Amino acid sequence: MYINGKWENAESGKTFDSINPASGKTIAEVPDGDDRDTTRSIDAADAAFKNWSKTTVYQRSEYLGKMYQLMIENKDKLAHTMTEEQGKPLKAARNEVQYAADFLLWYSEEVKRVYGRTIPAPRPDQRFVLNYNPVGVVAAITPWNYPISMITRKVAPALAAGCTVVLKPAEATPLCAVETFKLFAEAQLPPGVVNLVTAKHPGPIGETFLEDKRIRKLTFTGSTDVGKMLAQQAAVQMKRTSFELGGHAPFIVCKDADPVKAVKGVVLVKFLNTGQACISPNRLYVHKSQMDAFVNEFASRVERMKAGSGFEEGVSIGPLVNENALLKVERQVADALDNGAELVTGGKRLVNDGLENGHFFAPTILKGVTSEMLIYREETFGPVAPIIEYGDEDDLLMMANDTHYGLAAYVYTDKLTTAMTLFEGLNFGIIGINDINPTAVAAPFGGMKESGLGREGGPEGILEYLDIKVGGFSLR
Ligand code: NAP
Repeated sequence: MYINGKWENAESGKTFDSINPASGKTIAEVPDGDDRDTTRSIDAADAAFKNWSKTTVYQRSEYLGKMYQLMIENKDKLAHTMTEEQGKPLKAARNEVQYAADFLLWYSEEVKRVYGRTIPAPRPDQRFVLNYNPVGVVAAITPWNYPISMITRKVAPALAAGCTVVLKPAEATPLCAVETFKLFAEAQLPPGVVNLVTAKHPGPIGETFLEDKRIRKLTFTGSTDVGKMLAQQAAVQMKRTSFELGGHAPFIVCKDADPVKAVKGVVLVKFLNTGQACISPNRLYVHKSQMDAFVNEFASRVERMKAGSGFEEGVSIGPLVNENALLKVERQVADALDNGAELVTGGKRLVNDGLENGHFFAPTILKGVTSEMLIYREETFGPVAPIIEYGDEDDLLMMANDTHYGLAAYVYTDKLTTAMTLFEGLNFGIIGINDINPTAVAAPFGGMKESGLGREGGPEGILEYLDIKVGGFSLR
């Protein structure tokens, strides 16, 4: 763990294993932190805040620039750790490191442009001034599926704003966090500005974050269930919060879309990170006139996808994170088949050809999926594409919006009117129109409804770490 500028063991002396999900083998032992280590980290972050919050934006920009450079120089090393610990193919891991680094660079620039403002006053002898102030010490909790970019998406704007940070990464990917923090240490950030607590059991860390009054902001990326629980407890001290939670994205193929273009898109985005992405398409609404062309093309491409270790050339399907993730996918597929869905391809664990010790599931397509099935309602987080046929355009928006999630949605159409009507009618925070990657560091990322609160990335991302202060001055 990295606390107050030093690499530390847990006070308890305990450790836990980081495990390769493709082979089941232990990669390394990591300190198993608890409430005591969390409190030490908050002590350090609180002490560091006094000076860090007073540095100029130019000083903070320089640190972030250095962190960016170091991340780019160490891209291959970080990607290697990510593939080993999280399982995604090496090329995808390299892309993630680049995305992670881009947050550091973008906020190193954006911080220079966080202007306050003057506001016209109703009285001639009055002046209003609006300033932004860093909120204070930030507690950050990150998931395993994007184990490095989810760190910088929080740390870059928080540090740029003048906040200090205590971060708890997921139990499944502590080494990705350790390697990232090694670079933060190399950038010579003052002690206590960033702190890392690794842990097997998240409960005591979360409780300490929530109970300690010095934590003024909690930023969380993970499941909706845990997010809601933390939101309720954060309300006790009215802490500032942001939540990036689960998704259940519709992917709509309209009657005027090019089915091959739509298939190329869905293959890339559905199986990205083996379906373990919050913006993964979870419900494919295909117009009945497109069904045959779409399903045939989709199946022929999916059947050619190769599963295996992310280090192997040509592999696009990595392992799922653990046994529970496999069980969830199996349960959803079995439920859909029991209730009348048709298996187009896949549908089972992969246990041959050296995959028996990992958590592999075949890329799967189901058709004939209906609203009665579990997969229609629950986030899957695995390589399963459920297809729902639709005919009536009027019902489409109602069906696509019929979820308590509101993160991402995708539309394939060649008609401008259809594109704009669906863009305006879909209740989701990020919408790709003929585009499977509607994300970039400069574009605010986040969801509506139970997919979260607040935004990460873009100018909105830094405002999450700033308090507004208004001064009213009388000249009389
Ligand atoms: P998770 O189980 O909610 O875990 C997320 C993080 O919260 C992990 O660090 C976890 O620690 C920690 N955590 C769990 N219980 C906690 C508690 N009681 N107190 C404090 N921390 C706690 O979610 P996940 O399975 O890792 O991640 C997948 C979910 O994240 C999906 O729903 C996905 O859609 C969502 N996600 C959303 C976005 C977005 O931007 N909207 C991005 C990526 C992922 P442990 O690992 O130790 O349990």
